[in-house]
Amino acid sequence: MKLIIFGPPGSGKGTYSIRLKERYGLEKISTGDIFREEIKSGTVLGKEIEHFLKEGKLVPDEVVIKVVKNKLKNLDNFILDGYPRTVEQAKALDEITKIDAIIRINAHKEILIEKISARRICSNPKCDGNYNIADIRKTVNGVDYLLPPLLPKNDLVCDKCGSPLIQREDDNLKTIEERLKIYENQSRPVLDYYKSKGAGRVPIIDIWMSRPPEITVEKIIESLNQLKIK
Ligand SMILES: [Zn+2]
Repeated sequence: MKLIIFGPPGSGKGTYSIRLKERYGLEKISTGDIFREEIKSGTVLGKEIEHFLKEGKLVPDEVVIKVVKNKLKNLDNFILDGYPRTVEQAKALDEITKIDAIIRINAHKEILIEKISARRICSNPKCDGNYNIADIRKTVNGVDYLLPPLLPKNDLVCDKCGSPLIQREDDNLKTIEERLKIYENQSRPVLDYYKSKGAGRVPIIDIWMSRPPEITVEKIIESLNQLKIK
């Protein structure tokens, strides 16, 4: 099974990929992870990537494509997260392998903003406790959202270590709106590219983030089954 997952910030894309990975034994591939691997093993590519990142620059398409090509060479069971980000990358991917399906997670902007603004993380840097205080029950343009909060047992204190919970600095409205806009601008041309491919088109599975992750993942699996993707 060869999948790509698209989803805006706050859509829980990472959680779904992890659950699909566990369910199907997929390798979860994100460019960030491969970059870190290459840098850590000190490869020529790794050094090149490190140089761009140190300068605070985007890693150019040709380098990203090279890295992904290397990684996908011998894989036939994976989920790509955060790739392809450009039409160039999508075209290069077509030359490497044939994707079975694209999973697109949808949610209205106001829901994503509410969800991200309500994130609370543990203030202890050694702890990965994370929570969400938003209790979303509403209908937006015909989509009926029922997203319960993920609260700690005690008010604003981490269940794992007892430290106080805080909000991440970049989970503020201005940054959230910027992140959503970047996602829109990046993903639209790539999805349009996939839609324009005619007969050999990759099916796009559209899923609304209107229920908690365990239910949303089941919806994705149902769609994969319907398409007989294995
Ligand atoms: Zn904690």
